[in-house]
Amino acid sequence: THFGYKEVPVEEKTYQVRKVFNSVADQYDVMNDVMSAGVHRLWKDSLINSLNPRPSMHLLDVAGGTGDIAFRFLDASPKSTVTVADINAEMLRVGKDRAEKKGYKDRSDFICGDAMNLPVEDKSVDAYTISFGIRNVTHIDQAIREAYRVLKRGGRFLVLEFSPQIVPLLQQAYDKYSFKFIPQMGSLVAGDKESYQYLAESIRRFPTKEKFADMIAAEGFEKVEYRTMSAGVVALHSGYKI
Ligand code: SAM
Repeated sequence: THFGYKEVPVEEKTYQVRKVFNSVADQYDVMNDVMSAGVHRLWKDSLINSLNPRPSMHLLDVAGGTGDIAFRFLDASPKSTVTVADINAEMLRVGKDRAEKKGYKDRSDFICGDAMNLPVEDKSVDAYTISFGIRNVTHIDQAIREAYRVLKRGGRFLVLEFSPQIVPLLQQAYDKYSFKFIPQMGSLVAGDKESYQYLAESIRRFPTKEKFADMIAAEGFEKVEYRTMSAGVVALHSGYKI
């Protein structure tokens, strides 16, 4: 790790989530494209557009997995650097390999850590992103508090996540898609039905966009806003540490 972070042991509960992503790490990028018909790329592009990075900033991408957000950010922002934090060493391994192939080794750092207890200094990052990760965290409020802690004043907090509500007209089709199609594809492509079933269920348990915005504000973030994409399938929340 070359941006001065120390590694700390990961909390214990996260075990189940860790197991899920261990079993999917190698197929993870392919599965994202299959499951979302490639649309996850547009959602991630929107996150980076919304961040609108200036040059030479330092981003912490939590639950950064295989680096999708990190590499988009580095593409968009010359001289910037990124730290990817994830609890899963397998996801990080895939991410590190990709960084090397992309020539981003010097501008990226991959650290193993829990979003609820990050091995990151107070007030040390310009922006904090978490994409399709906070849903998996045991205590969401604690992860938000950690984001607040590590951000510098003026720093931006951005969360991309599936949202439990979608436009009513599509609800039935969406239910079928998530509880039938997704686990079936998981079983077919990754040989792992349960992991994908878990992913679908965790989306339904996640707070509504309004509730989640309140949770972000409750931890001290200001100018909290959100917008939804793809008929409400995904929400992008934003806040500032003023
Ligand atoms: N951000 C990437 C993306 O958008 O493609 C990966 C998202 S993937 C669905 C969820 C990631 O969250 C996994 O890599 C998993 O290991 C990680 N994760 C789950 N719980 C975590 C926690 N408590 N702290 C840090 N990372 C966590």
